[in-house]
Amino acid sequence: MEFNHVFISALVENALDGLDGTKFALTTHQKDNALKVLVVKQPKGGKGNCSYANHEKIIINLSYWQVKNVQNGKYENGHKCFKDKVLDGHVYYNEYKSFNANAKCGGTFIKIGDVDHATLIQVLHEISHYVQFTLWQANRSHGQYLRKPHGDGFIHIYSRLREAFCNNPITRRSFIRRCHEQASADVWTDFQAA
Ligand SMILES: [Zn+2]
Repeated sequence: MEFNHVFISALVENALDGLDGTKFALTTHQKDNALKVLVVKQPKGGKGNCSYANHEKIIINLSYWQVKNVQNGKYENGHKCFKDKVLDGHVYYNEYKSFNANAKCGGTFIKIGDVDHATLIQVLHEISHYVQFTLWQANRSHGQYLRKPHGDGFIHIYSRLREAFCNNPITRRSFIRRCHEQASADVWTDFQAA
């Protein structure tokens, strides 16, 4: 399997394990299912250039425009929302409007070239949708708390994941390194078995 897919799988697997012991913990079956429904794509352009997730699908787009901004060090889309987001050597990664200002899971500056940081944010965001809808499907008494796409349940899950794996630069780097190492080991094992 392609390295990017294996790397994203490692991010997903380890991040979901990070919810163990919390009220958002998934069962082993639900975690395994996340890896089964994961799709990693890298379109050359055109439509469908977004990421998406629910309980049946997790689509991660490696050429998502915000990831490209980080790669290229400029705002291709020229969005007005970035005009007061200036930090030398960085580009701003926007989050969904209703929680962009949230200190734990909102928009953030990313160092130009740090594509893994941008990808990690994207993955944690989409995983949070997978978790919210999976828990909601399993027990609909949670109601709107978990059903609303960017509602309170989503924000609580996403904040936990961002705080645990992403917001602190040291924690983030070691998490990304760990997932890279795991992915390399997995690819090597597949190669040997083939
Ligand atoms: Zn979303």
